Amino acid sequence: MTSTHDSPPIHFVATCDLAGHLRGRSVPASARDKVMASGVGWVPANLAIDAFGHLVEPNEFGASGDLRLLPSETARLELAATEGIPGTVIHLADQTRLDGSAWECCPRTFLRSALAELESRAGLRIVAAFEHEFHLHDSPSRPPFSLAALRDAEPFGSALVNTLEANGFAPETWLAEYGDGQYEITVAPASGMTAADRAVLLRAAVRDLATRHGRRVTFSPVVEPEGIGNGVHVHLSLVDVTTGKPVLFDPARPGLLSEVGGRFAAGILAHGAALTAISAPSPVSYLRLGPHHWSTGGIFLGERNREAFVRVCPVDASRPDRAADGFHLEFRAADATANPHLVLGMLILAGLRGIEQEPPARVWSGDLSESDLATLPALPASLPDALAALEADATACKWFDPVLLRTYLSVKRSELAQVAELDADALCRRLSDVY
Ligand code: GLU
Ligand code: MG
Repeated sequence: MTSTHDSPPIHFVATCDLAGHLRGRSVPASARDKVMASGVGWVPANLAIDAFGHLVEPNEFGASGDLRLLPSETARLELAATEGIPGTVIHLADQTRLDGSAWECCPRTFLRSALAELESRAGLRIVAAFEHEFHLHDSPSRPPFSLAALRDAEPFGSALVNTLEANGFAPETWLAEYGDGQYEITVAPASGMTAADRAVLLRAAVRDLATRHGRRVTFSPVVEPEGIGNGVHVHLSLVDVTTGKPVLFDPARPGLLSEVGGRFAAGILAHGAALTAISAPSPVSYLRLGPHHWSTGGIFLGERNREAFVRVCPVDASRPDRAADGFHLEFRAADATANPHLVLGMLILAGLRGIEQEPPARVWSGDLSESDLATLPALPASLPDALAALEADATACKWFDPVLLRTYLSVKRSELAQVAELDADALCRRLSDVY
């Protein structure tokens, strides 16, 4: 018998669904080439499975029909074999029709068409990075950001960084965060689709490696009712397709943000309430959002403000000649219960509408007072509010295929119905188990 270390890896062909879960099918190494060319079978109704594993009824797709999961050659992550567990390559796939043509309900297809719109209508490309926070259960209480807390996560922490590095994700920082047992991992920016793919794959790597090291992990936005939130911050910059140059930096303007950058941000703010239905889509997401949580205190653009909906990030002051290169925006109202492809796609479509139709957003500097916040559009206070805001935003609704939108809303309402009777503690526990 060969050991799992010598065996060829298993290939897991997967999609990230509307609840943000990774689902798919595996094939043996001998089938790899065939599957890369023609995919594996998939069921349309799988899109109507909610976060708790229930197929919403009635679902838009019924019991009939077939799709393919057609893997991308580049959206992959290899997990090394460990004792008794074979190596596994995760391939992210588009959900396509049987002939390989695009299926309009596929989240990856949604992002692809948003990227194409941005390029054809504005001549711009997105560069992005998703920054993730999560909790390792049963961690001792340690000082925030301490070496002791970082060491508590070993050997899982190094395994994670090494895995991301080996897969070309270019991890940048790995740190113990503010909360007990809370950690953060950041990776280098990449082009839009790659960045969203990496967000999905990074979560899979964290979960798998934690399990291999006997640790329990959760990305749930809030692990206990008054606890420190786990955010997903989406770092964004825009590049001119023709010149290849970044376009967000303008030293002559407020916050150093160019006119096009200000308009892009204005679009995100204008559709901000609807956006949260996609970016913060769990019943506990709204325990994380709100003033004084260092997550998002209101729907505004803030210069270096960690309570902004969209933050203008600092320039590297040591390199004024390179200021434009690293200058970027950060969308802070997302968490890991969201599908990264839908989040980035909607940010792009909102930003694009802003570029075309909005004046540049006001850049707030310094902390905002209660009375400042009261002048801003309301941040949804709950998932039902956010879903209602999405449905009320006729422009945003048109960005989605109607079947995709109806399925999304019914998946989210199914999740709400299942936790309706839970108190805050039980709700946090339930979501921590699932995410
Ligand atoms: N934990 C905060 C959140 O929920 C973010 C803290 C930070 O700025 O990194 O978004
Ligand atoms: Mg953080």
